[in-house]
Parts: sequence; structure tokens; C-alpha cells
Amino acid sequence: MSTFEEKFGTTPDGSWRAPGRVNLIGEHTDYNDGLVLPIALPNRIVVTASRRDDGRIAVASTGHKGITEFAIDELTLASVGDWAAYPAGAAWILRESGYAIGGANLLIDSDLPSGAGLSSSAALLCATSVALLGLHGIDVDPAEVARLAQRAENQYVGAPVGLMDQMASMCCTAGHALYFDIRAMSTDQIPFNPAADDLALLVVDVKAPHRHVDGEYAARRKSCEQAAAELGVPALRSIAYDDLDNALARLHDHVVRRRVRHVVTEIRRVEDAVALMRAGRLREVGPLFTGSHASLRDDVEITVPELDVAVDTALEAGALGARMTGGGFGGCIIALVAADAAESVLAAIEKAFAEHGFTAPSSLAATPSAGASRLS
Ligand code: ADP
Ligand code: MG
Repeated sequence: MSTFEEKFGTTPDGSWRAPGRVNLIGEHTDYNDGLVLPIALPNRIVVTASRRDDGRIAVASTGHKGITEFAIDELTLASVGDWAAYPAGAAWILRESGYAIGGANLLIDSDLPSGAGLSSSAALLCATSVALLGLHGIDVDPAEVARLAQRAENQYVGAPVGLMDQMASMCCTAGHALYFDIRAMSTDQIPFNPAADDLALLVVDVKAPHRHVDGEYAARRKSCEQAAAELGVPALRSIAYDDLDNALARLHDHVVRRRVRHVVTEIRRVEDAVALMRAGRLREVGPLFTGSHASLRDDVEITVPELDVAVDTALEAGALGARMTGGGFGGCIIALVAADAAESVLAAIEKAFAEHGFTAPSSLAATPSAGASRLS
């Protein structure tokens, strides 16, 4: 008997997947109307589902004990807590938005580390959304599902996240990075295939405990909003790279000045990376990663020793470029390496972590993968 049958006493009607993501470059730019460049990972969340005709949703996860059950019509904000708030939030926003979803049994399975900055939260929301819609034969544009998933995470789960993670999970395609312009709300698929150039993209989870992440994130956001207001622009995206010195000279707080310098230079680095990738010059993207890390370390001040040691060690071991990715204070680094150096770069990071007395890191190979889809 399958796990699904054991849990729910019935056979599934289908299964749907939605992947996690890493952002190649464009960090702390999303809330400044900026540019981001994520890829979807092969690691994903799968939701196996069967229809119910009683208007109730039952959710179980192979990673958690028990079954949580609720009636769709009785869902209110905060009526379902813990991890089941994600599937409940997906059902809630679909109902609030007028989609005629019905009852379902949902089993969640994942090979995506949770809480590592690879966006298992967005993958869970997107996978549940496409499962509930697919189960009831409702066709919705992937970018619209992403927007709904973001609203569920903001309003139901209560996490003030941007739209990048959900867009990556829904809209990425294999062999590409998703160039997402948040101001224009436009996307473009940029060829990204490291293996074709004998390269590999390593993702290393540095396993650092997240410290004060929410407050630090809110403070960075506030500084940027304050700077935009002082400069009389709707968001820092409006500051052209060539106008940066001028803008900095008009700001008095030296911390705010550094945050502005990061956002404006980081947006430029995304544009440069995209131009190089379009021209088939992927190797040259490496130094942009490294420049992004230095800016996040010095101007945004969101790295921790584990992130800096992992990046420095990767570079010393021959990586073409490396940077922290995600919100900071833990999470993962990415490193662009020659394919045949991947193992030795990883070994060097493991050795350095042991020498520093850090928790052993873990890694995965980041093949650029497709966004959410139906599996069966
Ligand atoms: P990240 O998105 O970086 O992985 P978050 O803290 O945003 O980290 O989201 C992690 C949360 O998502 C977990 O605490 C849990 O509530 C939920 N989650 C992730 N994966 C699963 C899973 N396989 N089963 C149940 N809940 C999950
Ligand atoms: Mg998350």
C-alpha cells in the first residue's frame, strides 16, 4: 500500500510538483523595484492528491506526524497554524480569489531542505496551489498562481516576502535563469547551462543558525525606503548607476548611504550578468558573483562567518566566483566552478568548516530546472 493510501484510505487522482530556487544574483533588490535572476532547482515539493466531495481539505506531510483537516468555507486568517498554515493559506487565497476549488486529501513529500533559504515555503504554497487547481480542472496562468502564493505567504502565513520565490517556482524553465524585472513585472528566460561550458553551479548550505533575521531584514527595508523618500524617488531602482555618486552625496546617514550603494550596484551587476549570459560568456559572470558577495558583506552587513568562510574558501580553491544567496544571516552560498573542480572546492569548504568548528555543510548540484508541473 502506498503512503497516500495508508494515510487517507483512498487512491490519489494525481500529483503535482513545484521546485525550490536559488537566486543567481540580485540580492536585496526585490523590495527596491529591482532585478532578480533565480533558477529553479531539481529539488522540489510534490503534492499527491485526491478529490473529496465534502468541502474539506486534509493535509499530511511525510516529514511530519499526523493529519490536519479543515473545511474550506470555514477557513479564516490564522485558523490553521504550524506548517499546515502553508497549504491552508493556498486554499484560503484561492477561495478568496473566487476559484471554485473543492475538498481534497493532500500528501506532501519533499527533497528540498526546509529553512535553508532555498524557498521550501514558496514551493509548498505553489505545489499545493497547482494541486488544488489541477484536481478541480481549473486553469490559471503560472504568474497569477505565483501572485496568489505570495499573498498567501504574506497574509495567511504572515511572512513579508517578495514575489521572486513564487515566480521562480512557477515560471522557470529548464536550462534558463528567470530574469524578473519587479518594476516592469516582466520576465525573460536567459540561457543558463553551466554543464555546456564544462562548469557547475554548487549550492552549499552553510547550516548557520538564523539569527534575528526578521528584524534585520525589516531594518534593511526601512533604510532603503527612507533613502528613496529623501531622494524623492518611488524606489531605489530609479537611481541610475551613473547617478550614484550624486545620490550618495545627498544622503547624510553613512549606513543608509552604504545600503543605497549596494542596491544600485547590485542592479547593475544583474544587468551585466544577463548581458554576459546572453553573449555565451558565462565564465565572466563569476567575478560579478564575488562582487555581489563583497557588497552584501560590507554594505548590507548580512553575512555571517560561515557564509564568508565558504565564499573565501571556494575562491581560494579555484571557483570562478562565489556569493551568499538569499536573505543572509545563514542559508546558502553559490559557487561557479569548473565541472572537474566541483569536488575539490567542496572538500576545501568542508575542511575549512571543520577547522573553524562550524557545523558540517551540505551541498547540492544546481541544475537549472523547470517550474511547477503536473507529474501524473
Ligand atoms: P525556506 O523557504 O527557506 O525553506 P521558510 O522558513 O520560509 O524557509 O519555510 C520553511 C517552512 O515551510 C517550514 O518551517 C515548514 O513550515 C514549511 N515546510 C517546508 N517543507 C515542508 C514539508 N516537506 N512538509 C511540511 N512543511 C514544510
Ligand atoms: Mg521561505
